[in-house]
Amino acid sequence: MPFTPFHIGPGIVVKAILQGSFSLMVFGWAQVVMDIQPLFVLVTGEGHLHGFSHTYIGATLLAVISALSGKYLAEIGLRIVGISKRDYPLKIKWWIAFLSAFIGTYSHVVLDSMMHSDVQPFFPWSQENQLLGLITVPQLHQLCLYSALVGAIIYYSVQYLRKKGDLFKICRHHQR
Ligand SMILES: [Zn+2]
Repeated sequence: MPFTPFHIGPGIVVKAILQGSFSLMVFGWAQVVMDIQPLFVLVTGEGHLHGFSHTYIGATLLAVISALSGKYLAEIGLRIVGISKRDYPLKIKWWIAFLSAFIGTYSHVVLDSMMHSDVQPFFPWSQENQLLGLITVPQLHQLCLYSALVGAIIYYSVQYLRKKGDLFKICRHHQR
């Protein structure tokens, strides 16, 4: 917070690597779920800005919530953007929903730990945050933006090569 969309960048890199074994929509939903608490604090002015939600225990809990709700929300989202068709509705496997949600909430804590001095990721065991200031905030934002770009390039290259590979197989099949 308050730059929730920046978290999507690293998610696109993971999507490029894991392809169909990762749901970017569930990941994105997990980012929103993570920042509900800080948003609430910003609006009401009460509470600890990055409180329990931005600890690894909080992130574990929110990952479960994000996976359980995100699987269905993402399936609706895929219908809306036209990736999933009415006749062949795309179902997100439970393990993919959970994997994507956990990568989402844990990476969120890691990134926010570097940026916000009030984040205590290892609460209640430790109040320390070793990642704080590891890189500067502008560098962090650049990293997120560039990872989105690089991730998208890798993702579409893999898709392209796969399609080409499939086409090659079909051609060989017809030559027989
Ligand atoms: Zn956050």
